Amino acid sequence: MSARNDTGSVSAHVKIYTRAEHNVSRSQISENALKVLYRLQKEGFDAYLVGGCVRDLLLGREPKDFDVVTNADPDQVRKVFRNCRLIGRRFRLAHVHFGREIIEVATFRGAGEEQNDKQVLNNEGRLLRDNVYGTIEEDVWRRDFTVNALYYNIKDFSVVDYVGGMADHKTGTLRLIGDPDMRFREDPVRMLRAVRFAVKLGFKLDQECEKAIHNDAQLLVGIPSARLYDEAIKLFLSGYALQTFEMLRHYGLFQVLFPSTEDSLAVEENGFPRLLLIKALENSDSRIAEGKTVTAYFLLAAFLWEPVQMRAKEKMAQGEVEYIAYQDAASEIIARQIRSTALPRHISMAMREVWSLQPKFNARIGSKPSRLIGHPRFRAGYDFLLLRAETGGADPEVAEWWTKYQHADENEQRKMTQPPRNSGTKNRDAKEVILKRLKTVLQKLES
Ligand code: ATP
Ligand code: MG
Repeated sequence: MSARNDTGSVSAHVKIYTRAEHNVSRSQISENALKVLYRLQKEGFDAYLVGGCVRDLLLGREPKDFDVVTNADPDQVRKVFRNCRLIGRRFRLAHVHFGREIIEVATFRGAGEEQNDKQVLNNEGRLLRDNVYGTIEEDVWRRDFTVNALYYNIKDFSVVDYVGGMADHKTGTLRLIGDPDMRFREDPVRMLRAVRFAVKLGFKLDQECEKAIHNDAQLLVGIPSARLYDEAIKLFLSGYALQTFEMLRHYGLFQVLFPSTEDSLAVEENGFPRLLLIKALENSDSRIAEGKTVTAYFLLAAFLWEPVQMRAKEKMAQGEVEYIAYQDAASEIIARQIRSTALPRHISMAMREVWSLQPKFNARIGSKPSRLIGHPRFRAGYDFLLLRAETGGADPEVAEWWTKYQHADENEQRKMTQPPRNSGTKNRDAKEVILKRLKTVLQKLES
């Protein structure tokens, strides 16, 4: 089917799905998004919903947020809405604020093929800056996957499809618009997005896209670490962390995000590091499924635990004392990690705290346990201990002791932390033995 689009040019490819031909209903769209769409329309502009929200609405899912595109430029958008702020340097966007909800309004982006003075590519073909406005037809080509490039037109409630997104939607296929290799070069983060959407939507990657990822995975190395951190968080706090992990490894993407973890998996013995990781990912997914909160630092602490241990053991083999070996190993592993994904300071601090609590759980006599329980990271540290105990990395008896200790009353706690009866005499005996030995050594030295 061919049709005239709103900008007046004729496209041979566009398919318009009328309201009767799709299941996007206004009742599922946020009221504020509708307000924005209607208001733009009233001012004489074209206005569409686009991207993830249309994709999710078609699947009957509740969208995370609603993105609007229009032919009004950002300054025109600002004039229409009082509650509006312009943001972004790489591409200027308008944010329309309604209390806590923000509706993002973008102007159609211009053509991507030819380079011009407003578009900057680096020498690997990566897009560094673009601020060219265009038509809806051009805007389509700037999007990543066909299912992310469907436009819901507020004028007649139709869904506009230039790239076969509806057909891919029906077959559950993630297909890049245009040549996959070129699109990944332009923005390698699209490879991570491919995995994220495949897992979240239960879609499969089309063959071309898969092939290109296998070839292009290493291009992610050039992406700023702060952006990779954001993507990693989206990937692993999505509720499908385990599947995401498996898929990222399958495509060779995991090693770019977490090189030390990948190294530790390569030398795993008895399956321990893998078990701990898998369990951590599973726990995080089931917590999300139960509506509980998950913290990034806990998962990251699990990712890097084995690398820290391996490094600490190397240091101890070179004669370093245990405590220092672990501290230094933690610093080194974190320093290596932030070259791949940035780690906000509060995150790396929290990870270190969880790690450094682990040996402290062994002290169960005297006043140490009651002090430890008051540590601000006790809960996370204890959960981490459970994880280790469940996967063969810590003594289950110690973990059980701490479980019992937490739930015991004061009296019981006091009993639990009392030194064993004979330990006093034992200590005295030990001291005497040491003193005797010292005396002999001294005598030998003197003679
Ligand atoms: P989510 O459900 O995670 O919000 P989304 O598809 O809405 O998924 P966003 O990051 O919110 O993802 O982006 C909105 C839309 O912008 C996408 O659907 C896609 O059309 C386009 N887009 C976002 N990032 C890219 C990118 N790196 N390359 C090309 N297009 C992109
Ligand atoms: Mg979105």
